[in-house]
Amino acid sequence: MTVGRFAPSPSGRMHLGNLFTALLAWLSVRSQNGKMLLRIEDLDPERSRREYIDAIKDDLAWLGLTYDEETPLQSARTARYAEAFGLLPTYPCYCSRSELHDASAPHASDGTLIYPGTCRDLSEAERAAKKRTPAWRVRVPYRDIVFTDGVFGAQREKLAAECGDFIVRRSDGVYAYQLAVVCDDADGGVTEVVRGCDLLRSTPRQIWLYQTLNMPVPRFYHVPLLVAPDGKRLSKREKSLDMAHLRERYRPQELIGYLAFLAKLTDTPAPVSAAELIEVFSWDMIGTSPIIVNSKL
Ligand code: GLU
Repeated sequence: MTVGRFAPSPSGRMHLGNLFTALLAWLSVRSQNGKMLLRIEDLDPERSRREYIDAIKDDLAWLGLTYDEETPLQSARTARYAEAFGLLPTYPCYCSRSELHDASAPHASDGTLIYPGTCRDLSEAERAAKKRTPAWRVRVPYRDIVFTDGVFGAQREKLAAECGDFIVRRSDGVYAYQLAVVCDDADGGVTEVVRGCDLLRSTPRQIWLYQTLNMPVPRFYHVPLLVAPDGKRLSKREKSLDMAHLRERYRPQELIGYLAFLAKLTDTPAPVSAAELIEVFSWDMIGTSPIIVNSKL
């Protein structure tokens, strides 16, 4: 059976971009008679708020984007992440952000720094001499990770050269998104991951984690980003496009109709319910180009 998920972070109210992803994830699952999970990604305690968790659930219900199960909060799953962490080839890294920048390490295509390996082979004595609480990185192999994205097609990344050893546990003790998401999707039996294409470059890291932890790799569908007319990403800062504002101005069918039109599922932005789109939906209709949205919507 197909199992999909919504995985919103409760660091703000959902905005148009989240809705676009949520709608496509929901349509994909419902068109296959699958099961939909809701997973609240409250991994980062500093950025997560209870009121946003409640708002996310209320907004999904208002839109008619139903789910079948809610998985445990990430904040309650530290022991599970610790267990997975213990199975990985990790080492402590004492580099600060500014030291890494000073080392002028090259950047990966998603803007993250390719770690130059400074702490990779420190001796016990060198580690003991460090006065800082370390982050923990995984030692990645010189191997190409290949996969086929359901929207973006064939993908290949040389993990060591194009990404480098990446952090799986931050120096403040919080397990990294890359590790948590892999444990969560595997434990939830998730078979397809639908999310914004800003996470396409994270996927090789996650695939390597699935393989290393002996867990099945789901299928990935990365959906195009919604951008403002100047090409900039519509962020949570674009207040007029968050759900609080959108709900003041639109009915659910109007918003869904507009999103379906942006996704090219329909020819006009006429109001429609999410349920009515199930028959229309096919991944073949979803393109890869960024989708321009007028922020005055
Ligand atoms: N929590 C992430 C977000 O809200 C999504 C992560 C994922 O889908 O893997 O952008």
